Amino acid sequence: MKNLHQKTLTELQSCLSNGDCSSQELAEHFLYRIEANDQLNAFITVDEQRTLEQAKQADVALKDNLGSALTGIPLAHKDIFCTDGLLTTCGSKILNNFISPYDATVVSRLSHAGMVTLGKTNMDEFAMGSSNETSYYGVVSNPWNTNAVPGGSSGGSAAAVSAGLAPAATGTDTGGSIRQPAAFCGITGVKPSYGRVSRYGMIAFASSLDQAGPMARTAEDAALLLDVMCGFDEHDSTSLRQDPVNFSAQLDKSIEGLKIGLPKSFFSQGLDAEVGDVIDTSIKTLEKMGATIVDINLPSSELAVPCYYVLAPAEASSNLSRFDGVRFGHRAKEYDDLGDMYQKSRSEGFGDEVKRRIMIGTYALSSGYYDAYYSKAQKLRRLISNDFDLAFKQCDIILSPTTPSVAFDKNAKTDDPIAMYLNDIYTIPANLAGLPAISLPAGLNPQGMPIGLHLVAPYLEEGRMLNIAHQFQLNTDFHRAFPENYA
Ligand code: GLN
Repeated sequence: MKNLHQKTLTELQSCLSNGDCSSQELAEHFLYRIEANDQLNAFITVDEQRTLEQAKQADVALKDNLGSALTGIPLAHKDIFCTDGLLTTCGSKILNNFISPYDATVVSRLSHAGMVTLGKTNMDEFAMGSSNETSYYGVVSNPWNTNAVPGGSSGGSAAAVSAGLAPAATGTDTGGSIRQPAAFCGITGVKPSYGRVSRYGMIAFASSLDQAGPMARTAEDAALLLDVMCGFDEHDSTSLRQDPVNFSAQLDKSIEGLKIGLPKSFFSQGLDAEVGDVIDTSIKTLEKMGATIVDINLPSSELAVPCYYVLAPAEASSNLSRFDGVRFGHRAKEYDDLGDMYQKSRSEGFGDEVKRRIMIGTYALSSGYYDAYYSKAQKLRRLISNDFDLAFKQCDIILSPTTPSVAFDKNAKTDDPIAMYLNDIYTIPANLAGLPAISLPAGLNPQGMPIGLHLVAPYLEEGRMLNIAHQFQLNTDFHRAFPENYA
């Protein structure tokens, strides 16, 4: 069958159930494409034999009618998720020899649903970055323009889905790492409400912000994945006690009468005009579909980036203390004593950005500065969250661009961390407030680079958000665009 790599999960599902293709054929097709396009550097680890073995098992299940909606469909996992028996690096040198002894809950849930793991995707080191340039395993190229970055930190997952190396992938989002690369690579990416998806086996960056989510071609596909990924997990103390939710069943409602909130300040300074224009067109499309627009204010969100860059590094400095050369990962070859071994292993194992964050975080948590930085940032976080509560009294969903610009060139921001950090100006507020959010393809700029539309929903209202996104995709075809050289 042709063009299997351009199909959505729903389409692949019917290929499998009609007998048009087998899971093994699908796995072979995507494995071939991964190898043929390895210059994108989207994957860190691929284990063909293991993939084909899983596909064979899926074919047996399908033949015996024991499959679920996703049985036999391949996907890729961000290399932040522990995978039993498979290298799990988190993009870092310090874990370049770490074979996980267990599966993350996200991985085991998707595997139990019959999905086939294609491999582990490249990412910014410990998910710290917006361009994939902090990965120890090299930068990933954006399939739409290989001189540009794919975004980060889930850049490998985004590039893989965008170029048709995988029909879907997992990602994680602490400040925008699912949505920003989704926007840069022209795919759909969802960050669920905090607590929806288990963090067990997902290597921690900033535990109060980290959430796993799906990256796929369409909102419908993201819903299918989320149906499986969500659910209570006793292994994660922040996991929500929730009944199973069927997001896929909530997509068909009309959006007539929907109130969309536009945060005025998000559309002023710092937004590239070409992005603004595409978002304006999307707003008009949604209005034609029956939505009305209300202006809202999120005044504290102006300070979301500085707030995040105190809290996330503070949590990271604590989380990353476990990488000490003793228990797992890289250990320096020569050292004088225990202290020297810690120091050398960490100095050799961590990259610059990770070291920068550990230093900022340790400083913000130190006794003389805790009140001035950490506690103040926590108070600000509450204000940002309160703004959303107020805004959602006036509207059902909040719309903005996902990013201020399209994907930038490699090396363009590596010397200027602040410019890099500002990429997440529209995405970070949802993480700080624990809210669900999505980025979906909204068009291309004149040079043909993708632009993402960002929606934020009230807490636990993923169903509403996916419904709106799906309806938008029924009325547009931006999610069908495919990077020319990979079609
Ligand atoms: N780009 C942000 C950072 O560098 C967000 C990363 C993420 O969401 N994991 O921290």
